[in-house]
Amino acid sequence: MKDFDAIVIGAGNGGLSAAVALQRGGMQTLLLERHNIPGGCATSFVRGDYEFEVALHQLSGLGTEKQPAVLRHVFDSLGVTDKVTFIEEHHLYRYAVPGVIDITLPASVSGIVQTLSTEFPEEADAIQKFMDLCEVITLETYMALPNARRSGDPDVLKRNCRNFVKYGLKSTQDVMDEFFISPVLKAVLGGYWGYAGQPLDRLPFSDLGVMLYAYAAMKPWHIEGGSQALSNALLESFLEAGGDVRFNCGAEKILTEGGGVSAVRTEHGDVFTCNQVVSNASSVLTYNQLLDRPELAKNAREDFKSRRMGVSGFVLYMGLDCTPEDLGLEAATNFIATTIDDKQQYARSKGFEDPLGCLFTCYTVGDKTMAPQGKSVAALMCLQYGEPWDSIAPEEYAATKFAYAEKLIALAENVIPNFRQHIEEIEIGTPVTMMRYLNTPGGAIYGFDQTIAEHGAVRDRVRPVDGLHLAGSWTGMGGFQPTYQAGAAVAASILRKQNTKGNAA
Ligand SMILES: Cc1cc2nc3c(=O)[nH]c(=O)nc-3n(C[C@H](O)[C@H](O)[C@H](O)COP(=O)(O)OP(=O)(O)OC[C@H]3O[C@@H](n4cnc5c(N)ncnc54)[C@H](O)[C@@H]3O)c2cc1C
Repeated sequence: MKDFDAIVIGAGNGGLSAAVALQRGGMQTLLLERHNIPGGCATSFVRGDYEFEVALHQLSGLGTEKQPAVLRHVFDSLGVTDKVTFIEEHHLYRYAVPGVIDITLPASVSGIVQTLSTEFPEEADAIQKFMDLCEVITLETYMALPNARRSGDPDVLKRNCRNFVKYGLKSTQDVMDEFFISPVLKAVLGGYWGYAGQPLDRLPFSDLGVMLYAYAAMKPWHIEGGSQALSNALLESFLEAGGDVRFNCGAEKILTEGGGVSAVRTEHGDVFTCNQVVSNASSVLTYNQLLDRPELAKNAREDFKSRRMGVSGFVLYMGLDCTPEDLGLEAATNFIATTIDDKQQYARSKGFEDPLGCLFTCYTVGDKTMAPQGKSVAALMCLQYGEPWDSIAPEEYAATKFAYAEKLIALAENVIPNFRQHIEEIEIGTPVTMMRYLNTPGGAIYGFDQTIAEHGAVRDRVRPVDGLHLAGSWTGMGGFQPTYQAGAAVAASILRKQNTKGNAA
Protein backbone atom coordinates (compact mmCIF):
# COMPACT_ATOMS: atom_id res chain seq x y z
CA MET A 1 0.00 0.00 0.00
CA LYS A 2 1.47 3.34 -1.08
CA ASP A 3 1.39 6.51 1.07
CA PHE A 4 -0.41 8.40 -1.72
CA ASP A 5 -2.02 7.60 -5.04
CA ALA A 6 -0.42 10.72 -6.52
CA ILE A 7 2.12 13.37 -5.58
CA VAL A 8 2.08 16.76 -7.27
CA ILE A 9 5.33 18.73 -7.23
CA GLY A 10 4.74 22.49 -7.32
CA ALA A 11 1.64 24.54 -6.58
CA GLY A 12 1.62 26.79 -9.65
CA ASN A 13 -1.51 26.91 -11.82
CA GLY A 14 -0.75 23.56 -13.47
CA GLY A 15 0.11 21.84 -10.20
CA LEU A 16 -2.86 23.23 -8.28
CA SER A 17 -5.43 22.35 -10.91
CA ALA A 18 -3.95 18.85 -11.34
CA ALA A 19 -3.95 18.30 -7.57
CA VAL A 20 -7.56 19.44 -7.15
CA ALA A 21 -8.78 17.32 -10.08
CA LEU A 22 -6.92 14.21 -8.87
CA GLN A 23 -8.16 14.56 -5.31
CA ARG A 24 -11.74 15.27 -6.37
CA GLY A 25 -11.43 12.33 -8.77
CA GLY A 26 -10.81 10.03 -5.82
CA MET A 27 -7.01 9.76 -5.78
CA GLN A 28 -5.38 10.52 -2.44
CA THR A 29 -2.96 13.29 -3.37
CA LEU A 30 -0.02 15.07 -1.74
CA LEU A 31 0.93 18.54 -2.99
CA LEU A 32 4.52 19.67 -2.35
CA GLU A 33 5.51 23.33 -2.77
CA ARG A 34 8.92 24.83 -2.02
CA HIS A 35 7.52 28.36 -1.48
CA ASN A 36 5.35 29.24 1.54
CA ILE A 37 2.23 30.14 -0.47
CA PRO A 38 0.31 28.54 -3.36
CA GLY A 39 0.27 29.93 -6.90
CA GLY A 40 3.77 30.02 -8.42
CA CYS A 41 3.43 33.01 -10.77
CA ALA A 42 -0.20 33.39 -9.62
CA THR A 43 0.59 35.06 -6.32
CA SER A 44 0.65 38.49 -4.73
CA PHE A 45 2.80 40.28 -2.16
CA VAL A 46 2.34 43.28 0.12
CA ARG A 47 4.43 46.43 0.37
CA GLY A 48 3.18 49.31 2.50
CA ASP A 49 -0.48 50.05 1.76
CA TYR A 50 -0.51 47.96 -1.42
CA GLU A 51 -0.97 44.36 -2.41
CA PHE A 52 0.71 43.67 -5.74
CA GLU A 53 -0.43 41.13 -8.30
CA VAL A 54 2.68 39.28 -9.49
CA ALA A 55 1.64 38.06 -12.92
CA LEU A 56 -1.95 38.12 -14.10
CA HIS A 57 -2.66 40.97 -16.49
CA GLN A 58 -5.76 39.60 -18.18
CA LEU A 59 -7.40 36.20 -17.75
CA SER A 60 -8.61 34.69 -21.04
CA GLY A 61 -10.96 31.84 -21.91
CA LEU A 62 -13.48 32.34 -19.13
CA GLY A 63 -16.53 33.61 -21.00
CA THR A 64 -19.49 35.13 -19.23
CA GLU A 65 -21.92 33.44 -16.85
CA LYS A 66 -24.49 33.34 -19.66
CA GLN A 67 -21.98 32.17 -22.24
CA PRO A 68 -19.42 30.18 -20.30
CA ALA A 69 -16.24 29.25 -22.13
CA VAL A 70 -13.75 26.47 -21.64
CA LEU A 71 -11.95 27.86 -18.57
CA ARG A 72 -15.19 28.48 -16.64
CA HIS A 73 -16.05 24.81 -17.17
CA VAL A 74 -12.60 23.85 -15.87
CA PHE A 75 -13.10 26.05 -12.77
CA ASP A 76 -16.59 24.59 -12.25
CA SER A 77 -15.14 21.09 -12.30
CA LEU A 78 -12.47 22.14 -9.79
CA GLY A 79 -15.10 23.66 -7.49
CA VAL A 80 -13.67 27.21 -7.48
CA THR A 81 -15.99 29.32 -9.66
CA ASP A 82 -18.09 30.36 -6.67
CA LYS A 83 -15.11 30.94 -4.42
CA VAL A 84 -13.80 33.95 -6.37
CA THR A 85 -15.20 37.08 -7.99
CA PHE A 86 -14.26 37.61 -11.61
CA ILE A 87 -14.26 41.20 -12.87
CA GLU A 88 -14.87 41.78 -16.56
CA GLU A 89 -12.69 44.26 -18.42
CA HIS A 90 -14.49 46.23 -21.09
CA HIS A 91 -11.44 47.26 -23.07
CA LEU A 92 -9.16 44.78 -24.75
CA TYR A 93 -6.16 47.10 -24.79
CA ARG A 94 -4.84 50.49 -25.71
CA TYR A 95 -2.05 50.43 -28.29
CA ALA A 96 -0.02 53.63 -28.26
CA VAL A 97 3.05 54.61 -30.26
CA PRO A 98 3.44 58.41 -29.99
CA GLY A 99 3.28 60.16 -33.34
CA VAL A 100 1.98 57.00 -35.06
CA ILE A 101 -1.18 55.75 -33.39
CA ASP A 102 -3.06 55.79 -30.11
CA ILE A 103 -6.08 53.51 -30.24
CA THR A 104 -8.16 51.55 -27.71
CA LEU A 105 -9.84 48.32 -28.77
CA PRO A 106 -13.08 47.33 -27.05
CA ALA A 107 -13.41 43.81 -25.64
CA SER A 108 -15.67 42.36 -28.31
CA VAL A 109 -15.12 40.97 -31.78
CA SER A 110 -17.67 43.29 -33.40
CA GLY A 111 -16.21 46.23 -31.45
CA ILE A 112 -12.73 45.47 -32.73
CA VAL A 113 -13.98 45.22 -36.30
CA GLN A 114 -15.88 48.49 -35.99
CA THR A 115 -13.08 50.45 -34.28
CA LEU A 116 -10.41 49.29 -36.71
CA SER A 117 -12.64 49.67 -39.77
CA THR A 118 -13.23 53.31 -38.79
CA GLU A 119 -9.47 53.88 -38.41
CA PHE A 120 -8.49 51.86 -41.50
CA PRO A 121 -11.60 52.07 -43.76
CA GLU A 122 -9.81 50.78 -46.86
CA GLU A 123 -9.08 47.51 -45.01
CA ALA A 124 -12.51 46.98 -43.44
CA ASP A 125 -13.27 43.77 -45.36
CA ALA A 126 -9.92 42.27 -44.50
CA ILE A 127 -10.38 43.11 -40.81
CA GLN A 128 -13.70 41.25 -40.74
CA LYS A 129 -12.19 38.26 -42.59
CA PHE A 130 -9.19 38.19 -40.28
CA MET A 131 -11.38 38.12 -37.15
CA ASP A 132 -13.50 35.38 -38.76
CA LEU A 133 -10.32 33.37 -39.28
CA CYS A 134 -9.33 33.88 -35.61
CA GLU A 135 -12.73 32.49 -34.63
CA VAL A 136 -12.54 29.34 -36.76
CA ILE A 137 -8.91 28.69 -35.78
CA THR A 138 -9.99 28.90 -32.12
CA LEU A 139 -12.91 26.53 -32.64
CA GLU A 140 -10.77 24.04 -34.53
CA THR A 141 -7.98 24.26 -31.93
CA TYR A 142 -10.31 23.50 -29.02
CA MET A 143 -12.93 21.26 -30.61
CA ALA A 144 -11.29 19.29 -33.41
CA LEU A 145 -7.50 19.37 -33.15
CA PRO A 146 -7.08 17.16 -30.03
CA ASN A 147 -9.14 14.34 -31.59
CA ALA A 148 -7.49 14.76 -34.97
CA ARG A 149 -4.05 14.47 -33.36
CA ARG A 150 -5.08 11.46 -31.30
CA SER A 151 -6.36 9.74 -34.44
CA GLY A 152 -2.92 10.12 -36.07
CA ASP A 153 -4.72 10.20 -39.43
CA PRO A 154 -3.63 13.12 -41.67
CA ASP A 155 -6.94 12.95 -43.56
CA VAL A 156 -8.92 13.53 -40.36
CA LEU A 157 -6.69 16.52 -39.62
CA LYS A 158 -7.16 17.95 -43.12
CA ARG A 159 -10.91 17.39 -43.04
CA ASN A 160 -11.70 18.65 -39.53
CA CYS A 161 -9.02 21.31 -39.09
CA ARG A 162 -8.95 22.89 -42.53
CA ASN A 163 -8.07 26.41 -41.36
CA PHE A 164 -5.57 25.18 -38.82
CA VAL A 165 -3.79 23.16 -41.50
CA LYS A 166 -3.71 26.17 -43.84
CA TYR A 167 -2.84 28.92 -41.36
CA GLY A 168 -2.20 27.56 -37.85
CA LEU A 169 1.53 26.94 -38.13
CA LYS A 170 2.32 29.83 -40.45
CA SER A 171 4.01 32.76 -38.77
CA THR A 172 1.59 35.44 -37.59
CA GLN A 173 3.57 37.90 -39.68
CA ASP A 174 2.92 35.89 -42.85
CA VAL A 175 -0.80 35.71 -42.15
CA MET A 176 -0.96 39.42 -41.35
CA ASP A 177 0.91 40.18 -44.58
CA GLU A 178 -1.62 38.09 -46.51
CA PHE A 179 -4.56 40.00 -45.03
CA PHE A 180 -3.40 43.59 -44.54
CA ILE A 181 -1.48 46.40 -46.18
CA SER A 182 -0.99 48.86 -43.33
CA PRO A 183 1.94 47.99 -41.03
CA VAL A 184 0.24 50.04 -38.31
CA LEU A 185 -2.91 47.92 -38.52
CA LYS A 186 -0.79 44.75 -38.32
CA ALA A 187 0.98 46.09 -35.26
CA VAL A 188 -2.30 46.99 -33.51
CA LEU A 189 -3.88 43.59 -34.17
CA GLY A 190 -0.66 41.84 -33.19
CA GLY A 191 -0.46 43.71 -29.88
CA TYR A 192 -0.73 40.53 -27.82
CA TRP A 193 2.56 39.12 -29.15
CA GLY A 194 4.20 40.12 -25.87
CA TYR A 195 1.87 37.78 -23.97
CA ALA A 196 3.44 34.89 -25.86
CA GLY A 197 6.94 36.35 -25.66
CA GLN A 198 7.70 36.00 -29.37
CA PRO A 199 7.60 38.53 -32.21
CA LEU A 200 5.08 38.05 -34.99
CA ASP A 201 7.51 36.43 -37.43
CA ARG A 202 8.30 33.64 -34.92
CA LEU A 203 4.88 33.28 -33.34
CA PRO A 204 2.59 30.57 -34.78
CA PHE A 205 -0.59 32.19 -36.05
CA SER A 206 -2.75 29.76 -34.09
CA ASP A 207 -1.29 31.14 -30.82
CA LEU A 208 -2.01 34.77 -31.68
CA GLY A 209 -5.34 34.03 -33.38
CA VAL A 210 -6.62 31.95 -30.46
CA MET A 211 -5.38 34.49 -27.91
CA LEU A 212 -6.97 37.45 -29.68
CA TYR A 213 -10.27 35.66 -30.14
CA ALA A 214 -10.26 34.18 -26.62
CA TYR A 215 -9.82 37.63 -25.08
CA ALA A 216 -12.22 39.40 -27.43
CA ALA A 217 -15.11 36.93 -27.54
CA MET A 218 -14.71 35.41 -24.08
CA LYS A 219 -13.66 38.74 -22.52
CA PRO A 220 -10.58 39.67 -20.53
CA TRP A 221 -11.01 39.26 -16.76
CA HIS A 222 -9.41 40.33 -13.51
CA ILE A 223 -9.91 38.53 -10.25
CA GLU A 224 -10.94 40.35 -7.10
CA GLY A 225 -7.98 39.97 -4.75
CA GLY A 226 -5.76 39.11 -7.72
CA SER A 227 -4.66 35.71 -8.97
CA GLN A 228 -3.63 34.86 -5.38
CA ALA A 229 -7.35 34.66 -4.54
CA LEU A 230 -7.80 32.00 -7.21
CA SER A 231 -4.71 30.09 -6.07
CA ASN A 232 -6.08 30.18 -2.50
CA ALA A 233 -9.48 28.98 -3.75
CA LEU A 234 -7.87 26.05 -5.58
CA LEU A 235 -5.98 25.12 -2.44
CA GLU A 236 -9.17 25.37 -0.38
CA SER A 237 -10.99 23.10 -2.83
CA PHE A 238 -8.10 20.61 -2.65
CA LEU A 239 -8.15 20.56 1.16
CA GLU A 240 -11.96 20.30 1.28
CA ALA A 241 -11.71 17.19 -0.88
CA GLY A 242 -9.25 15.68 1.62
CA GLY A 243 -5.92 16.52 -0.06
CA ASP A 244 -2.66 16.86 1.85
CA VAL A 245 -0.28 19.80 1.28
CA ARG A 246 3.23 20.72 2.48
CA PHE A 247 4.64 24.22 1.98
CA ASN A 248 8.31 25.15 2.40
CA CYS A 249 8.84 21.61 1.19
CA GLY A 250 10.60 21.21 -2.15
CA ALA A 251 10.78 17.86 -3.87
CA GLU A 252 14.40 16.79 -4.05
CA LYS A 253 14.17 13.48 -5.92
CA ILE A 254 11.63 11.46 -7.82
CA LEU A 255 12.47 7.85 -7.03
CA THR A 256 11.88 5.05 -9.53
CA GLU A 257 11.64 1.30 -9.50
CA GLY A 258 11.73 -0.81 -12.64
CA GLY A 259 11.37 2.23 -14.92
CA GLY A 260 8.28 3.62 -13.16
CA VAL A 261 7.87 6.18 -10.37
CA SER A 262 7.72 4.80 -6.84
CA ALA A 263 8.19 7.70 -4.43
CA VAL A 264 9.23 11.33 -3.91
CA ARG A 265 11.90 12.43 -1.46
CA THR A 266 11.55 15.96 -0.05
CA GLU A 267 14.31 18.41 0.75
CA HIS A 268 13.74 17.52 4.41
CA GLY A 269 14.55 13.87 3.77
CA ASP A 270 11.00 12.47 4.02
CA VAL A 271 10.14 9.80 1.47
CA PHE A 272 6.51 9.39 0.36
CA THR A 273 5.61 6.44 -1.82
CA CYS A 274 3.09 6.85 -4.65
CA ASN A 275 1.95 5.49 -8.02
CA GLN A 276 1.81 8.72 -10.01
CA VAL A 277 3.85 11.93 -9.93
CA VAL A 278 2.79 15.15 -11.62
CA SER A 279 5.59 17.69 -11.85
CA ASN A 280 4.71 21.36 -12.20
CA ALA A 281 8.41 22.20 -12.02
CA SER A 282 10.14 22.83 -15.35
CA SER A 283 10.73 19.78 -17.51
CA VAL A 284 14.42 20.64 -17.50
CA LEU A 285 14.58 20.44 -13.70
CA THR A 286 12.29 17.42 -13.56
CA TYR A 287 14.26 15.24 -15.96
CA ASN A 288 17.79 16.52 -15.28
CA GLN A 289 17.77 16.93 -11.51
CA LEU A 290 14.67 15.55 -9.80
CA LEU A 291 14.58 12.16 -11.49
CA ASP A 292 16.84 9.73 -9.61
CA ARG A 293 17.95 8.05 -12.84
CA PRO A 294 18.25 10.81 -15.49
CA GLU A 295 19.30 8.15 -18.02
CA LEU A 296 15.66 7.03 -18.11
CA ALA A 297 14.83 10.41 -19.63
CA LYS A 298 17.34 10.13 -22.46
CA ASN A 299 14.75 10.98 -25.12
CA ALA A 300 13.54 14.03 -23.14
CA ARG A 301 17.08 15.28 -22.83
CA GLU A 302 17.58 14.75 -26.56
CA ASP A 303 14.44 16.83 -27.10
CA PHE A 304 15.88 19.67 -24.96
CA LYS A 305 18.73 20.08 -27.46
CA SER A 306 16.34 21.55 -29.99
CA ARG A 307 14.54 23.79 -27.47
CA ARG A 308 15.30 27.35 -26.46
CA MET A 309 14.76 28.51 -22.92
CA GLY A 310 11.86 30.94 -22.81
CA VAL A 311 11.75 34.60 -22.01
CA SER A 312 11.37 36.08 -18.52
CA GLY A 313 10.25 39.55 -17.49
CA PHE A 314 11.33 42.80 -15.86
CA VAL A 315 8.50 44.27 -13.82
CA LEU A 316 7.90 47.40 -11.76
CA TYR A 317 5.13 46.87 -9.22
CA MET A 318 3.89 50.33 -8.30
CA GLY A 319 1.51 51.87 -5.80
CA LEU A 320 0.41 55.28 -7.11
CA ASP A 321 -1.04 58.08 -4.99
CA CYS A 322 -3.66 58.97 -7.62
CA THR A 323 -6.59 57.42 -9.47
CA PRO A 324 -6.45 55.99 -13.01
CA GLU A 325 -8.65 58.93 -14.09
CA ASP A 326 -5.99 61.36 -12.77
CA LEU A 327 -3.57 59.67 -15.18
CA GLY A 328 -6.06 59.80 -18.06
CA LEU A 329 -6.28 56.00 -18.18
CA GLU A 330 -9.39 54.48 -19.70
CA ALA A 331 -8.10 50.95 -20.37
CA ALA A 332 -6.39 48.78 -17.75
CA THR A 333 -4.08 47.26 -20.37
CA ASN A 334 -1.80 49.64 -22.26
CA PHE A 335 0.79 48.51 -24.81
CA ILE A 336 3.21 51.40 -25.15
CA ALA A 337 6.10 51.58 -27.60
CA THR A 338 8.31 53.99 -29.50
CA THR A 339 8.17 51.88 -32.65
CA ILE A 340 5.57 49.60 -34.22
CA ASP A 341 8.39 47.19 -35.10
CA ASP A 342 7.87 44.20 -32.77
CA LYS A 343 11.12 42.59 -33.95
CA GLN A 344 13.13 45.57 -32.75
CA GLN A 345 11.22 45.58 -29.48
CA TYR A 346 11.84 41.87 -28.98
CA ALA A 347 15.56 42.23 -29.79
CA ARG A 348 15.91 44.51 -26.76
CA SER A 349 14.79 41.68 -24.45
CA LYS A 350 18.25 40.16 -24.77
CA GLY A 351 20.28 43.00 -23.23
CA PHE A 352 20.20 46.27 -21.32
CA GLU A 353 19.78 48.71 -24.20
CA ASP A 354 16.81 51.08 -23.82
CA PRO A 355 13.55 49.11 -24.04
CA LEU A 356 11.35 50.04 -27.03
CA GLY A 357 8.05 48.55 -25.86
CA CYS A 358 6.31 47.82 -22.58
CA LEU A 359 3.01 46.96 -20.95
CA PHE A 360 1.45 49.28 -18.37
CA THR A 361 -1.42 47.57 -16.52
CA CYS A 362 -3.45 49.62 -14.09
CA TYR A 363 -5.50 47.13 -12.07
CA THR A 364 -7.55 49.84 -10.40
CA VAL A 365 -9.26 50.78 -13.68
CA GLY A 366 -11.83 48.01 -13.31
CA ASP A 367 -11.48 47.23 -9.63
CA LYS A 368 -11.27 50.06 -7.10
CA THR A 369 -10.78 47.53 -4.28
CA MET A 370 -7.27 46.78 -5.56
CA ALA A 371 -5.83 49.90 -3.86
CA PRO A 372 -6.63 52.23 -0.95
CA GLN A 373 -9.22 54.88 -1.81
CA GLY A 374 -7.98 57.49 -4.27
CA LYS A 375 -4.89 55.42 -5.12
CA SER A 376 -3.94 52.88 -7.77
CA VAL A 377 -1.94 49.74 -8.31
CA ALA A 378 -0.06 49.34 -11.57
CA ALA A 379 2.52 47.05 -13.11
CA LEU A 380 4.96 48.17 -15.77
CA MET A 381 6.59 45.29 -17.59
CA CYS A 382 8.82 44.40 -20.50
CA LEU A 383 10.23 41.09 -21.68
CA GLN A 384 13.78 40.21 -20.69
CA TYR A 385 15.71 36.97 -21.03
CA GLY A 386 17.53 35.59 -18.01
CA GLU A 387 20.98 35.34 -19.60
CA PRO A 388 22.16 38.95 -19.37
CA TRP A 389 20.93 39.21 -15.78
CA ASP A 390 22.59 35.97 -14.79
CA SER A 391 25.97 37.31 -15.80
CA ILE A 392 25.86 40.53 -13.74
CA ALA A 393 28.27 40.64 -10.81
CA PRO A 394 26.32 40.63 -7.52
CA GLU A 395 27.70 44.06 -6.54
CA GLU A 396 26.33 45.53 -9.80
CA TYR A 397 22.91 43.95 -9.66
CA ALA A 398 21.09 46.70 -7.72
CA ALA A 399 22.51 49.53 -9.85
CA THR A 400 21.68 47.66 -13.09
CA LYS A 401 18.14 47.02 -11.91
CA PHE A 402 17.50 50.65 -10.93
CA ALA A 403 19.04 52.00 -14.13
CA TYR A 404 16.85 49.72 -16.24
CA ALA A 405 13.78 50.69 -14.21
CA GLU A 406 14.50 54.35 -15.00
CA LYS A 407 14.56 53.54 -18.72
CA LEU A 408 11.26 51.70 -18.53
CA ILE A 409 9.57 54.54 -16.66
CA ALA A 410 10.86 57.03 -19.23
CA LEU A 411 9.43 54.86 -22.02
CA ALA A 412 5.98 54.65 -20.42
CA GLU A 413 5.96 58.38 -19.66
CA ASN A 414 5.90 59.02 -23.40
CA VAL A 415 2.23 58.05 -23.19
CA ILE A 416 1.35 58.48 -19.49
CA PRO A 417 3.12 61.74 -18.71
CA ASN A 418 4.61 62.33 -15.27
CA PHE A 419 3.24 59.22 -13.57
CA ARG A 420 6.65 58.90 -11.89
CA GLN A 421 5.76 61.71 -9.49
CA HIS A 422 2.80 59.61 -8.23
CA ILE A 423 4.84 56.54 -7.32
CA GLU A 424 4.39 56.01 -3.59
CA GLU A 425 5.58 52.41 -3.34
CA ILE A 426 7.70 50.43 -5.78
CA GLU A 427 9.21 46.96 -6.01
CA ILE A 428 11.22 45.64 -8.92
CA GLY A 429 11.24 42.07 -10.22
CA THR A 430 13.94 40.94 -12.66
CA PRO A 431 14.55 37.57 -14.31
CA VAL A 432 16.71 36.79 -11.25
CA THR A 433 13.65 37.31 -9.03
CA MET A 434 11.64 34.95 -11.26
CA MET A 435 14.42 32.33 -11.09
CA ARG A 436 14.38 32.55 -7.32
CA TYR A 437 10.63 32.30 -6.85
CA LEU A 438 9.68 29.96 -9.70
CA ASN A 439 12.76 27.75 -9.88
CA THR A 440 12.63 27.94 -13.68
CA PRO A 441 15.77 28.10 -15.87
CA GLY A 442 16.48 31.72 -16.76
CA GLY A 443 13.39 32.74 -14.79
CA ALA A 444 11.31 31.67 -17.82
CA ILE A 445 7.65 32.58 -17.33
CA TYR A 446 6.10 30.81 -20.32
CA GLY A 447 8.24 27.66 -20.47
CA PHE A 448 10.29 27.21 -23.65
CA ASP A 449 10.28 29.90 -26.32
CA GLN A 450 6.90 29.66 -28.03
CA THR A 451 8.06 29.60 -31.61
CA ILE A 452 6.53 27.65 -34.49
CA ALA A 453 9.05 24.85 -33.89
CA GLU A 454 7.80 24.47 -30.30
CA HIS A 455 4.14 24.18 -31.18
CA GLY A 456 2.45 21.12 -29.66
CA ALA A 457 1.23 20.07 -33.11
CA VAL A 458 4.79 19.54 -34.37
CA ARG A 459 6.33 18.08 -31.20
CA ASP A 460 6.07 14.49 -30.11
CA ARG A 461 5.00 13.99 -26.50
CA VAL A 462 7.98 12.75 -24.52
CA ARG A 463 6.95 10.40 -21.69
CA PRO A 464 10.09 8.66 -20.56
CA VAL A 465 9.01 7.28 -17.19
CA ASP A 466 5.91 5.32 -16.30
CA GLY A 467 3.72 7.31 -13.93
CA LEU A 468 5.63 10.61 -14.35
CA HIS A 469 3.66 13.47 -15.89
CA LEU A 470 4.28 17.18 -16.43
CA ALA A 471 1.71 19.94 -15.94
CA GLY A 472 2.19 23.62 -16.67
CA SER A 473 3.93 25.91 -19.06
CA TRP A 474 6.64 23.37 -19.99
CA THR A 475 4.13 21.06 -21.65
CA GLY A 476 2.71 23.46 -24.21
CA MET A 477 1.73 27.10 -24.16
CA GLY A 478 2.54 29.23 -21.11
CA GLY A 479 0.13 31.71 -19.57
CA PHE A 480 -2.77 31.42 -17.16
CA GLN A 481 -5.49 29.78 -19.24
CA PRO A 482 -3.20 27.16 -20.83
CA THR A 483 -1.62 26.12 -17.52
CA TYR A 484 -4.92 25.75 -15.64
CA GLN A 485 -6.16 23.65 -18.57
CA ALA A 486 -2.93 21.64 -18.74
CA GLY A 487 -3.20 20.68 -15.05
CA ALA A 488 -6.83 19.63 -15.37
CA ALA A 489 -6.10 17.70 -18.59
CA VAL A 490 -3.19 15.71 -17.18
CA ALA A 491 -5.29 14.77 -14.14
CA ALA A 492 -8.16 13.71 -16.39
CA SER A 493 -5.86 11.43 -18.38
CA ILE A 494 -4.44 9.85 -15.18
CA LEU A 495 -7.95 9.32 -13.81
CA ARG A 496 -9.12 7.84 -17.11
CA LYS A 497 -6.29 5.29 -17.04
CA GLN A 498 -6.92 4.48 -13.37
CA ASN A 499 -10.60 3.91 -14.05
CA THR A 500 -9.87 1.73 -17.06
CA LYS A 501 -7.46 -0.35 -14.95
CA GLY A 502 -10.00 -0.49 -12.11
CA ASN A 503 -12.77 -1.64 -14.44
CA ALA A 504 -10.55 -4.26 -16.02
CA ALA A 505 -9.49 -5.70 -12.64
C1 LIG B 1 5.52 38.93 -14.26
C2 LIG B 1 4.69 37.93 -15.00
C3 LIG B 1 3.67 38.37 -15.84
C4 LIG B 1 2.87 37.45 -16.52
N1 LIG B 1 1.80 37.90 -17.25
C5 LIG B 1 0.91 36.99 -17.76
C6 LIG B 1 -0.35 37.40 -18.34
O1 LIG B 1 -0.71 38.56 -18.35
N2 LIG B 1 -1.16 36.47 -18.88
C7 LIG B 1 -0.83 35.15 -18.86
O2 LIG B 1 -1.61 34.33 -19.33
N3 LIG B 1 0.34 34.74 -18.31
C8 LIG B 1 1.20 35.61 -17.74
N4 LIG B 1 2.35 35.19 -17.14
C9 LIG B 1 2.73 33.77 -17.28
C10 LIG B 1 1.94 32.86 -16.38
O3 LIG B 1 1.83 33.43 -15.10
C11 LIG B 1 2.68 31.53 -16.28
O4 LIG B 1 2.92 31.01 -17.59
C12 LIG B 1 1.91 30.47 -15.51
O5 LIG B 1 1.36 31.01 -14.33
C13 LIG B 1 2.87 29.34 -15.18
O6 LIG B 1 2.17 28.35 -14.47
P1 LIG B 1 2.80 26.94 -14.20
O7 LIG B 1 1.70 26.02 -13.87
O8 LIG B 1 3.70 26.55 -15.32
O9 LIG B 1 3.66 27.08 -12.86
P2 LIG B 1 4.60 28.18 -12.19
O10 LIG B 1 3.84 29.41 -11.95
O11 LIG B 1 5.91 28.26 -12.89
O12 LIG B 1 4.80 27.48 -10.77
C14 LIG B 1 5.61 26.34 -10.58
C15 LIG B 1 5.62 26.06 -9.08
O13 LIG B 1 6.45 24.92 -8.84
C16 LIG B 1 7.20 25.16 -7.67
N5 LIG B 1 8.38 24.29 -7.70
C17 LIG B 1 9.41 24.33 -8.58
N6 LIG B 1 10.31 23.37 -8.26
C18 LIG B 1 9.81 22.71 -7.18
C19 LIG B 1 10.29 21.63 -6.40
N7 LIG B 1 11.44 21.01 -6.65
N8 LIG B 1 9.52 21.21 -5.36
C20 LIG B 1 8.34 21.81 -5.05
N9 LIG B 1 7.87 22.87 -5.75
C21 LIG B 1 8.59 23.29 -6.81
C22 LIG B 1 7.53 26.64 -7.74
O14 LIG B 1 7.90 27.15 -6.46
C23 LIG B 1 6.21 27.19 -8.25
O15 LIG B 1 5.32 27.49 -7.19
C24 LIG B 1 3.14 36.07 -16.41
C25 LIG B 1 4.15 35.62 -15.56
C26 LIG B 1 4.92 36.54 -14.84
C27 LIG B 1 5.96 36.05 -13.86
